[in-house]
Amino acid sequence: MAAPPGSIVPGAKSGSASTPTSWASSVGVRRSMLANRRVDTAPERALRSHLHGSGLRFRKDFRIKLEDVSVRADVVFPAAKLAVFVDGCFWHQCPEHATMPKRNSEFWAPKLRRNVERDQRVNRALTEAGWTVIRCWEHEDPTHVLPRVVTALQETR
Ligand SMILES: [Zn+2]
Repeated sequence: MAAPPGSIVPGAKSGSASTPTSWASSVGVRRSMLANRRVDTAPERALRSHLHGSGLRFRKDFRIKLEDVSVRADVVFPAAKLAVFVDGCFWHQCPEHATMPKRNSEFWAPKLRRNVERDQRVNRALTEAGWTVIRCWEHEDPTHVLPRVVTALQETR
C-alpha cells in the first residue's frame, strides 16, 4: 500500500522554496515535487481569484471528511455542499494533455491509473453524501468554470 503523494514529503511546502533545483534531476521527481506542493498551484489561484472577483465566498483547500473518505478540495462552499477540484492534466490524465513518461513507465502507469480511480471513488462518495462535485482541468479558462459553479450554487439553494 503506497502512501498518498501528499504524505511522502512532510514539510515540503515550507522548504520547497529553498530546495536546490538539482535535486529535481528527473522529470518524474520534479513532477512529484510539484504535486506535493498541495496548495496554490497557478491554475488553482487563477480560478479562486476569478470566483472571488465575481463575488463568491468560499473556503480554499478545505478538507471534507466523510465516513470512508477524507479529501481536500481546492474550492469548497460548505453550506451548499459544493466541492470544486482543479485537476492537473498530468496527474489526473486529461484527455487532451495526458502523457505517460517513457522512463519508469511500469511505475507511472499504475500510479496514474490509481489517481484516476481515486477521483472516481471520491466523486461517488461525495455524491452519495449529498455533495455536488465540479471537476475542471488545470488547462480550463476560469471564465468557463465560473458559470458551472454559479449554476451549481443556484441548484443547491
Ligand atoms: Zn489538459
